[in-house]
Amino acid sequence: SEALLLDGVEKVYNQGQPNEIKVLRGVDLTVAPGEVVAMVAPSGAGKSTLLHIAGLLDTPDGGRVVIGGNDLTGKGDRARTAARRSEIGFVYQFHHLLPEFTAVENIVLPQLAAGVARGAAQTRALELLDTVGIKPRADHRPGELSGGEQQRVAFCRALANGPGLLLADEPTGNLDPGTSDQVFEALMTLARATGLSALIATHNLELAARMDRTVRLDAGVLV
Ligand code: ADP
Ligand code: ADP
Repeated sequence: SEALLLDGVEKVYNQGQPNEIKVLRGVDLTVAPGEVVAMVAPSGAGKSTLLHIAGLLDTPDGGRVVIGGNDLTGKGDRARTAARRSEIGFVYQFHHLLPEFTAVENIVLPQLAAGVARGAAQTRALELLDTVGIKPRADHRPGELSGGEQQRVAFCRALANGPGLLLADEPTGNLDPGTSDQVFEALMTLARATGLSALIATHNLELAARMDRTVRLDAGVLV
């Protein structure tokens, strides 16, 4: 089944008030297994709203959200949180790594929280760091890493528990063009190595062109 299916998703803010705003007006999107989709959108178009709904952090006012074949529309908080933790990885423009922990520990911790044994978690963390080319940095704290290295650690952390779907909001947005390219390649390598599906919001049309497909969020619908 699809990694992500959005079917007629609608979102209205301030409903019934003078400042009512219909941000999403029937968004349809399918992300197939292993597919990496770019989402481009002008600022304020509702990109973050859409990612939050796809990531089960926010609920739509209409339509359906199906993750890995599991229809979570109208499901309670408990089911949504469980699905979010096991099925979805998030990456943001700023990495939010824990500054007092090393790179490898930042990737081990979410696995321990999910019940993985420390030895196995450590092995997986080092494999992920190796895939993105920064295993030699495993014992460095975020403050000792470059911006690009920090973001690569954040990708590894997002994938630590093997989610089927990665949602990324401007993951290279605060990096210079050369670093941004390198970090993007690391992400694609990870995706191809793990069969991951991804929806990646970006302003960078060059990077978007290197993904499998680009969708544009415009006037509340995807085209
Ligand atoms: P983008 O990420 O594309 O910049 P957002 O999804 O953050 O867009 O926001 C889309 C529109 O919805 C904007 O006009 C924003 O001001 C509005 N908006 C976002 N969140 C809220 C909220 N919680 N309450 C009211 N309006 C909101
Ligand atoms: P935990 O309590 O185990 O950290 P959560 O259910 O709070 O798990 O979060 C699961 C995932 O959702 C995490 O990757 C977290 O970064 C992300 N997340 C949680 N809340 C928000 C939010 N308000 N905005 C964006 N991402 C969030």
